[in-house]
Amino acid sequence: MFKIILAKNAGFCFGVKRAMSIAKKTAGNSSNKPVYTFGPLIHNPQAVSYLESIGVHSISKLDEVQPGKLIVRSHGLHPQIITAAKEKGFEIIDATCPFVRRTQDFAKTLLKENYEVVVIGEAEHPEVVGIVGHTDGKAVIVENESDIEKLVGREKIGIVTQTTQSMEYFQFLVMKILEIGNEIKIYKTICGATQKRQKATLELAERADIMLIIGGKNSANTTHLAQLSGKTGKPTYHIEKSDEIMPAWLKGKTIIGISAGASTPAYVIKEVISKLESIMEKISDPSGSRLLYKEEVVND
Ligand code: SF4
Repeated sequence: MFKIILAKNAGFCFGVKRAMSIAKKTAGNSSNKPVYTFGPLIHNPQAVSYLESIGVHSISKLDEVQPGKLIVRSHGLHPQIITAAKEKGFEIIDATCPFVRRTQDFAKTLLKENYEVVVIGEAEHPEVVGIVGHTDGKAVIVENESDIEKLVGREKIGIVTQTTQSMEYFQFLVMKILEIGNEIKIYKTICGATQKRQKATLELAERADIMLIIGGKNSANTTHLAQLSGKTGKPTYHIEKSDEIMPAWLKGKTIIGISAGASTPAYVIKEVISKLESIMEKISDPSGSRLLYKEEVVND
């Protein structure tokens, strides 16, 4: 007997669903104008291929194409890019997730209030680049403990964080920063969808024999889920699609836990479950019974 359990909160979040819906609508009402996203709309290769198939093209430079409709991705964009796009004649369609927008606004407010603005997150991640851009490039990025050196001597420190940061690491870095400044203002801007996915993944990893975390290898929130799950000591594999599953991983395992990042489409999760079912049917004791159990996916 084996169980395949899907985490309570897995797959597309509110912000990603919203961005995909805006992109589909824009492609459908393009008025024959080309439609672009500056960088991938979301960090999932299958979703980006789908968008390409309906005429939403990801670009990395404004100069490489004729002006058309430019969708600002869910991670937001550096304001200079938006200004440059408008000047070149692009029509801007804003799909920035409202939770990312809120973080950008908090960072701007902290700057106005004369705080040394700190963004806890990955320096190269587009969301972090965008947030720093909203402080005119003045915010300090703290990606790891050694970056905290840059804050020595600062009295007033205002903190925001990348929305997909792991709660545990955010708390660790905040505690270190607390040792430096005298006046510290903290906006805990990790979004609810991220927190729910982290909690559901941890709970599931505790009772599973093996965890598969599905999502883009370039997806920060999926990578954090895989790291969290791995820290429980359970064998954890971060995969993008079903054909990466190795039957050897599943030998002797009874409870298979699945979680997926906020940018993982539902059909990719379904394909993984089908593949697991077919592998487990082959390697399980044929006289034993099979039980497939999926927890309700809330997707919020
Ligand atoms: S993970 Fe959170 S911040 Fe990012 S798009 Fe989803 S809801 Fe928005």
